[in-house]
Amino acid sequence: SSLIQAASAAALPKSARLMAGYATGTFEATLFPGDGIGPEIAAATKEIFQAAGVPVVWDEQVIGKTPDPRTNSMVTRENLDSVLKHKIGLKGPMTTPIGKGFRSLNLTLRKELDLYANVRPCFNIPGYKTRYDNINLVTVRENTEGEYSGLEHEVVPGVVESLKVITRKASSRIAEFAFAYARENGRHKVSAVHKANIMKKADGLFLECCREVATKYSDIKYEEVIVDNACMQLVSNPTQFDVLVMPNLYGDIISDLCAGLVGGLGLTPSMNIGVNGLALAEAVHGTAPDIAGKDKANPTALLLSSCMMLRHIGRKDQAENIQNAVISVIAEGKWRTADLGGRATTTDFKKAVIDKL
Ligand code: NAD
Repeated sequence: SSLIQAASAAALPKSARLMAGYATGTFEATLFPGDGIGPEIAAATKEIFQAAGVPVVWDEQVIGKTPDPRTNSMVTRENLDSVLKHKIGLKGPMTTPIGKGFRSLNLTLRKELDLYANVRPCFNIPGYKTRYDNINLVTVRENTEGEYSGLEHEVVPGVVESLKVITRKASSRIAEFAFAYARENGRHKVSAVHKANIMKKADGLFLECCREVATKYSDIKYEEVIVDNACMQLVSNPTQFDVLVMPNLYGDIISDLCAGLVGGLGLTPSMNIGVNGLALAEAVHGTAPDIAGKDKANPTALLLSSCMMLRHIGRKDQAENIQNAVISVIAEGKWRTADLGGRATTTDFKKAVIDKL
C-alpha cells in the first residue's frame, strides 16, 4: 500500500496536467544531463527507459557552458525553446558558483519558464529502514519569488540589501496548487509554513492568500506552522504532516530536510510545474563533485523524478513499472549504492533495475 501511496503522491492537479497527446505513441522530451554525476545518472535513466520500452526521443541539451546575450544568462535560447516545444523535460544537477559568478541555471530555468510550483513527494522506500516509518508527505514550494528575486546590492561598503519579494499572484497560485493537489490525491491536510511573526508583511501576505484559498476547500484541513517549529516537528514527528506549502526559501530548506528523513538526497525526486502543464522533473540533489565520474552515484532520485514526468503525461503504467523496479532493488539490498550503505556501482544498480522490469 505504501507503494500505491507513493505513486499517487505524484499525480498533479488537473489544472496542471498536460493536454492529451503524450500518452500513446512516441513522444519527445528535453534532457539536461547537467554536471558532475548528472551525465552518469542521466545515462542510466536513458538505458532504463529504453529497456522499459518507453518510446521517448530525448532532445539532449548542453546547458551552462556558453553565455547567451539573448537571455543574458548561461541558459541559452535553445535550452528554453526545447522545453517550451516539448513541454516536458528531465534535468540532472547543475553547478552553481557560490557567492559570485553568473545567476543560477536552475533559477534562470524556473524564472524564464515560469515553473512556479516545485513538488517533492517524500516517502519511505519499503525495506530501506530510516528513523521513522510511514512518512508520506509532499512539499509544495513557491518557485519563482521570495528570497530568490536575485535583487541584491551593496548599499555602502559592509552593508548588503537582498530583497525578498512576495506577491498576491504567486502566493495564491501556489496555495491553489497545493489545495488542488491535496484534494485530487486524497490527502487531508495542508500546512502553510511561514515566518509571519517576524516578516509580518511578506509572509503575512502569503498566509492571507493561503487562508483565502483554504475557504474554498472545506474538505481539506488547513493549519499554519511557523518555519522553525515546522523543522522541529518534522524531525520529531514527521507523520503528522501531509501537504506542506511554503515560500521559496523555506521550501528549499525543508524539502532537503524531508529528503534526509527518508534516506537522503540520492532518493528524493521532484518536479517543477508551470502553466499549461509545462513540467521539468529533476533530482533534488546537486552535482556531488566528491563522487563524480567514479560510477558511484545513486540514480534513484533522477529515476523517480522521471517517473513523475511519466505520470504527468499519462503514462502511469510505465512509471509504475520503473518505480517498482527501483524500489524493489533498494528493498532487496544486494545492489545498494554507497550512499545507502551498499557497494554497488551506478552500473550495477542500473543492471539490477533493468533485470526487474
Ligand atoms: P550535493 O547534493 O551535490 O552533494 C551533497 C552530498 O550528497 C555529497 O556527499 C554527495 O556525494 C551526496 N549525493 C548527492 N547526490 C547523490 C547521489 N545521487 N548519489 C549518491 N550520493 C549523492 O550538494 P552540494 O555538494 O552542496 O552541491 C554541489 C553542487 O551542486 C553545487 O555547485 C550546488 O550549487 C549544486 N546543486 C545543484 C542543484 C540542482 O541542480 N538542482 C541542487 C543542489 C546543489
